[in-house]
Amino acid sequence: MSAEQLLAVCQWLDQKGWVANHDGNISMRLPGHRFLVTPTAFRKGDIGAADLLVIDREGRVLSGRHRVFSEWQLHRAVYAARPQMGAVLHCHAPASSAFAVSRRQLGIDFMPEAIVSLGPRLAHVPYHRPGEDGLSEAVATAARAANAAILFGHGPLAWGRDLTMAQARMELVEHLAVIAHRAASLGGPTPLAPQEIEALTDKHRRAGLAAPSLDL
Ligand SMILES: [Zn+2]
Repeated sequence: MSAEQLLAVCQWLDQKGWVANHDGNISMRLPGHRFLVTPTAFRKGDIGAADLLVIDREGRVLSGRHRVFSEWQLHRAVYAARPQMGAVLHCHAPASSAFAVSRRQLGIDFMPEAIVSLGPRLAHVPYHRPGEDGLSEAVATAARAANAAILFGHGPLAWGRDLTMAQARMELVEHLAVIAHRAASLGGPTPLAPQEIEALTDKHRRAGLAAPSLDL
């Protein structure tokens, strides 16, 4: 079941055009501190059930015949910071990646549904070379503060209680990036009034979706 769902999201990323070459990676938490993950060096559209891996927190392969992706560090940091999260998804969706490589913050407080689903803001992670010291801590801080992040110089990262939620959040982040980019040609999106943002954030909290350090 988990494998089927993960493979469906691989196909979805491929069909959306949100990955090229070997871009993107997906993981799901399994019982017993194990994770089901996509293998490195595969086009997402080419991955079959036999190619998936089960790994431990350190990224050691417990079953499967391929290697884990090098960005496991990002996923691991999210799981450590948010123990209730069951899936993490990373891709190079073009609009949100455009914000990432322009190193511009993607505000999402211009539309009510965005705040209810994602919270009042995304996290933005400063550029780090993959594997560089400080990257895990920066991603952990982002995971405690928000429900998705834009990694500057890289792309979007989303997480959720399960893969369906992580997928929906990634879809929403990309959609909001497209809207914000189009609105820029009309003078840019207007944020909602502060009392409106607060009321919608309250709704987000009451739905049990808020990140733990949202109010810090
Ligand atoms: Zn990437």
